Amino acid sequence: MNRKYYSKLIFELSHPGRHGYSLPSNGLDTPVDLPETLSRKTPPDLPEVDEPAVVRHYNNMSTNNFGVDTGFYPLGSCTMKYNPKINEEIASHSGMLQLHPSTPAVAAQGALMIYYTLQWMLSEIGGMAEFTLNPFAGAHGELTGLMVIRAYHRSRGDFRRTKVIIPDSAHGTNPASAAVAGLEIVEVRSRPDGTVDVDDLRPLLDDTVAAMMMTNPNTLGIFEKNIPEIAELVHGAGALLYYDGANLNPMLGVARPGDMGFDVMHINLHKTFSTPHGGGGPGSGPVGVRAGLEQFLPNPRVVRRPDGSFDIISSSDALGRISATLGNYAIAARALAYILSMGREGIMMAGRLATLNANYIKESLKDLYKLPIEGVCKHEFVFDGLADKSTGVTTLNVAKRLLDHGYHAPTIYFPLLFHESLMIEPTETESLETLDEFIAVMREIAREASETPDIVRDAPHDTPIGHPDDTQAALTPVTTYTA
Ligand SMILES: *Cc1c(COP(=O)(O)O)cnc(C)c1O
Repeated sequence: MNRKYYSKLIFELSHPGRHGYSLPSNGLDTPVDLPETLSRKTPPDLPEVDEPAVVRHYNNMSTNNFGVDTGFYPLGSCTMKYNPKINEEIASHSGMLQLHPSTPAVAAQGALMIYYTLQWMLSEIGGMAEFTLNPFAGAHGELTGLMVIRAYHRSRGDFRRTKVIIPDSAHGTNPASAAVAGLEIVEVRSRPDGTVDVDDLRPLLDDTVAAMMMTNPNTLGIFEKNIPEIAELVHGAGALLYYDGANLNPMLGVARPGDMGFDVMHINLHKTFSTPHGGGGPGSGPVGVRAGLEQFLPNPRVVRRPDGSFDIISSSDALGRISATLGNYAIAARALAYILSMGREGIMMAGRLATLNANYIKESLKDLYKLPIEGVCKHEFVFDGLADKSTGVTTLNVAKRLLDHGYHAPTIYFPLLFHESLMIEPTETESLETLDEFIAVMREIAREASETPDIVRDAPHDTPIGHPDDTQAALTPVTTYTA
């Protein structure tokens, strides 16, 4: 990659007296008379640059970034799929953008219809009775779902349930959300095949357990086949079963958490339903519940009246509020546009193609990369580094070398079940050619690891920052800029 990276700050481009605008005089001879207390003593420290410098600076900076729109982004447990631009355009419609969050229901019927329709469609997709779109992220949805579960137990006068059972393969947000909800975390182990060990689970269940959280397919990309048995055990102990649906992609139109016995779930609209993510942008983590739990969902809720109109209601049984308003509206609009444009058939193909693509890459590379768990995966899978451990080339080295080839690195060193985890999720939106090119590069890196290992160990060679000392950066981070 022969491209120039621009790393100068806009302040470094500044020259006293330059400006980036040319406006006629405002015709006012005397300056506006501001009170002394309101006027600044020293001019603001702003960069002084001409218009081309500003335009080039921001455009060039934007090309230093990597995104799904610039290249293949096989980040496991993240579903970095291409988001069709039509959904972006629909969400940017002025009728949606200019809506005030406090607009009364009578004046926002169209917007509420979008909301209600999405709640309903997500309920269909998840096999749940009702959804709330209020939570702002996956982790926020987990917290909301756990609060629903607590409200349910309390409504029955059951205050003893303070524990949440979470598999050791779970996403880090699961235990974090449980802790934020004030619950105690109990870990259940996985078996060598990557699924939850039911024998390990049994003795953990008693009347102090509020819920068990599960991800399915789990974070290893493996389908948990024992859900019916687990659901029976968990329900038998009086606890509820929570589904982490952050990565619902492979399940779309194939299986529904509600049908498997899950009581509460969340979905990440910013992974599966057409909102770009990464970099901490706005998200949305809708929470669904089975029949009988609707009243505990957070306020406010959007409902449909018998006359067909839509309304915003609050319930005294609700867990309270978890957001100021009804959540991130533009993301709901994108998600609905995505679902409607894909249609039932398209949604059903998405999960199947994501699964096919992951298996294609896995099977094409497993002779050179160590596959700790054999068999068909779902939307993602994990290698345990290179098959040939004698080269000394690590997963980190492979990930960095991929940057030289213009790819975003896969997820590395997660899940923690293997020493050299390299987790790949291609998604359904990539063509066969893209997958083949990626496979060829991965094979090339494996060959380099045996023949010229230093090339891989010293990578990346073509990025603005070469090979930082990770340990040094973590121990003594430099958080201020010096020219
Ligand atoms: C991404 C993810 C989450 C958390 O979602 P955020 O929106 O980042 O809070 C939770 N669980 C799993 C399995 C995930 O992949």
